[in-house]
Amino acid sequence: MSIQTIGVIGAGQMGNGIAHVMSQAGYDVVMSDVSQDALNRAMETIRKNMSRQVSRGKMAEAEMEAALGRIKTTLDLADIGASDLVIEAATEREAVKQAIFEDLQPHLKPDTILTSNTSSISITRLASRTDRPEKFMGFHFMNPVPVMQLVELIRGIATDEPTYKACLGVVERIGKTASSAEDFPAFIVNRILVPMINEAVYVLYEGVGNVKSIDEAMKLGANHPMGPLELADFIGLDTCLAIMNVLHDGLADTKYRPCPLLTKYVEAGWLGRKTKRGFYDYRGEEPVPTR
Ligand code: NAD
Repeated sequence: MSIQTIGVIGAGQMGNGIAHVMSQAGYDVVMSDVSQDALNRAMETIRKNMSRQVSRGKMAEAEMEAALGRIKTTLDLADIGASDLVIEAATEREAVKQAIFEDLQPHLKPDTILTSNTSSISITRLASRTDRPEKFMGFHFMNPVPVMQLVELIRGIATDEPTYKACLGVVERIGKTASSAEDFPAFIVNRILVPMINEAVYVLYEGVGNVKSIDEAMKLGANHPMGPLELADFIGLDTCLAIMNVLHDGLADTKYRPCPLLTKYVEAGWLGRKTKRGFYDYRGEEPVPTR
């Protein structure tokens, strides 16, 4: 399967990063969203992030202009139809993703590969609602996409080998590394990472340590580049809670019980960096622990 044109659906923080790395690697990209504002913001972000690469000598100015020229944006999902590979990176709601694949289907070429960047929704279930479950898989980037080296490739129960190989080829061409995961809740990275964050919140909840001691302990004692609570604020506490709920519901094991303190922060609207408060308060010059 030869892939030249990639359709990216959703121009949020993941979608713009995916369009960035694909166009940089020479693919033609068609990026769609339901909001023109989101498309404009995405193009601005890509230009800003590529300019940073240029100023660091990691990319030539002409390369940046050529890459930006390979990205087309559209509000019409039908324009995605001619792509060889589609990467869906819209809002993390199953009904939204299902509607996208349903609306897209009549416009697709017969051999187009469909993928989703979902962090938690079952690939097998999404695939089963399309006309090509054997050409459907999970293509899970990490945030921020241009910086993070890993892509998780998740096979649904029906995914065939040529589809997997074609996606692996794309991961290699963009210079990233693939890790292959089976389709179980939260795949590999979030299955391990998010329960660790949840445990750090329990450690705080039970008073074993405070925010500073927990983060310092894991940075200096386990050589983690960021403490777990700092990392939770970066990911978003609502996202961490949603992933714990997917693990708890999907695996039906009490060891994945979300910490009540995590739920409380989310209920307070303290979602981390994006709302300027989480385990740290970001409203001043330096982040300070909120408890
Ligand atoms: P986001 O909220 O930044 O962006 C989502 C975009 O999808 C928005 O621009 C929205 O307008 C658009 N959208 C909504 N409905 C649409 C539709 N019907 N058609 C086209 N576009 C539509 O979200 P994000 O953080 O970029 O996450 C996108 C996906 O990537 C989710 O599935 C998420 O789980 C996954 N993901 C997120 C991260 C992360 O750290 N944020 C990491 C890995 C994977």
